[in-house]
Amino acid sequence: MGEFELIRQYFLPLARVRGSHSLVLGPGDDCAVQRIPPGSDLVFSIDTLVEGVHFPPGYRPDFLGWRALAVAASDLAAMGATPSCFTLALTLPAAREPWLRDFAQGLGKAAESFGLVLAGGDTTRGPLALSIQVHGLVEQGAALCRSGARIGDLVVVSGTLGDAGAALDYLDAGNPTADEKFVLERYHHPRPRLKLGVALRGLATAAIDVSDGLLADLGHILEASAVGANIDRARVPVSPALARLKGESALDYALHCGDDYELCAALPEAGWAAAPPSLKAQLTVIGVIEAEPGLRVDGIAVSSGSGAEGFDHFRRAT
Ligand SMILES: [Mg+2]
Repeated sequence: MGEFELIRQYFLPLARVRGSHSLVLGPGDDCAVQRIPPGSDLVFSIDTLVEGVHFPPGYRPDFLGWRALAVAASDLAAMGATPSCFTLALTLPAAREPWLRDFAQGLGKAAESFGLVLAGGDTTRGPLALSIQVHGLVEQGAALCRSGARIGDLVVVSGTLGDAGAALDYLDAGNPTADEKFVLERYHHPRPRLKLGVALRGLATAAIDVSDGLLADLGHILEASAVGANIDRARVPVSPALARLKGESALDYALHCGDDYELCAALPEAGWAAAPPSLKAQLTVIGVIEAEPGLRVDGIAVSSGSGAEGFDHFRRAT
């Protein structure tokens, strides 16, 4: 089977639109066409993953398909956008059928799970790399930005942090324990907080997804909002599995490691008090926005420069 046939066979099923959808023309023409509903803003973002930089060489193609789309969709969650469609640019050393089949399977599962339809794409020959552009929709003017945090706002995070970062220590584990399996699953199959992002619209003053590590990503909110923050270290949520695996250093993973794709947001105290219990159950208050610039943990300043506290994917993943 030729390269184009392979791609048609494995990728076209991801372009099937079910029910009402803003994608009015999918793959097969010169461009895709998306109709923006009146009163909506189009929210879009692109992410590139390169073998040996963002994922280990020889990484399982089904895991790669899921992870690549999850990472891209997480940026939609951070903006409070509802996912609509995506495009994929895939650079492959060779069009090997088992690899394409497994990759498309992982990608397809993620697409279905996140409500994203394939709108089009491109393939080229070269070292393995992929770029995914995701499109989402949000009510006009309602996108969550990094720049709106105000003094006195509470800093909240979803889920638990540090699991995916710790997983890198066990990527080659031959016979992982239950706790190791738990954190590995968090690394291989991140679940972007899409519903939570939508629920935070109109409530959060600023939001970001935790891709590079809590301190680094919260630092981006502080910089964009021209404020500071203090984090209560003991309140940073870690999973029981991470606590058992890493003991006292579990919190270091939670503060510094990325790849969890949870959300970090700022919201006014009154908004938090009035928030529905179902929303509160997904979030933990870990600190407060302050006037004094910079990020502090238990009152002690940490550097919050871009990437300074972030996680180095390359060093740990390869
Ligand atoms: Mg992001």
